[in-house]
Amino acid sequence: MYHELGMPDRKPFLDEPGYTRYVVPESDFRQQLRIMKESGMRGLSVGEALAETHSQQPGVVITFDDGCETDLLAAAPALQSLNFSATFYVVSDFVGQPGILSPSQLRALSEMGFEVGSHSKTHAYLPDLDPNRLRDEILNSKDRLEQIMGRRVEHFSCPGGRWNRAVAEMCREAGYRSVVTSRIGRNSSATDRFRLRRVVVQRNTAAQSVLALARGHGLGLLQARQALLDAAKNLMGNSIYERLRSAMLHTE
Ligand SMILES: [Zn+2]
Repeated sequence: MYHELGMPDRKPFLDEPGYTRYVVPESDFRQQLRIMKESGMRGLSVGEALAETHSQQPGVVITFDDGCETDLLAAAPALQSLNFSATFYVVSDFVGQPGILSPSQLRALSEMGFEVGSHSKTHAYLPDLDPNRLRDEILNSKDRLEQIMGRRVEHFSCPGGRWNRAVAEMCREAGYRSVVTSRIGRNSSATDRFRLRRVVVQRNTAAQSVLALARGHGLGLLQARQALLDAAKNLMGNSIYERLRSAMLHTE
C-alpha cells in the first residue's frame, strides 16, 4: 500500500508528519520496483490477482490510496517501464483539487491500463457513519468515477483502513468485487474479498524490506504491533490512542 510519491521540487499534498511519513520518494519507489522485478516478481492490480486461479510466477499487488497527482506523474511511468500493473484508489470529491488528479489525469491513468478503484467520496471514516451517508460515500463515489472515466469501478479501499461488516455489505450491494483494509497480512484465495489485508510502505522503508514484505516475510511482528494498538484503542478511547500511535510510529 502506497500513498503519494515524493517528487523533487514538489510539495506533498499535506505538510504534516502524520501524512509525510507515508510519502515515498519517487527514486525509492523505482528502486523498490526494480528489486521486485529482479527477484522475478510481477506487479499486479487487485482485479488481476483476484482473477488468477494459480500462477507459476510470484506476484505482489500494488495499490495507491488518495488519488494524488503523483499517481500519474511518478507512479504510472515507473510501473509501466517494468510492465507492472497496480490499482489506484481515488477519493471522488478530491478529484481536481490542487495536488490531486484532475478528471483528465484520471482518464489518462485509466487509459494507460491501470485499475482505478474508489477510496470513498469524502475520505470519511466509514464505520462512524449512518446508513444513508455510508451509501453516499460508497455508491456516489463509484458513479462519479465511472462517469469521469467511462469504465467500471469495482474495487474499494476504506479511508484510514476503517472497516466493519456494514461497510463490506454495502460495497457488495453497490456492485464492488473487493474491499481493501489496512489490516496487515497476506491474502490467499480463502481470504474474504471484502476484507483484504495490506502492508503499508512508508517513507523510510528500505527496498530490501519492501521485497521481504512482498514475499510475506516479517509480517508477524507488524501484525503483533497492530494488534497491540487495536487493543489500546479499545481500552483507551480514540484520543489517547492517537497519541500513543503517533509516539510508537515515530520511534521508527
Ligand atoms: Zn486515504
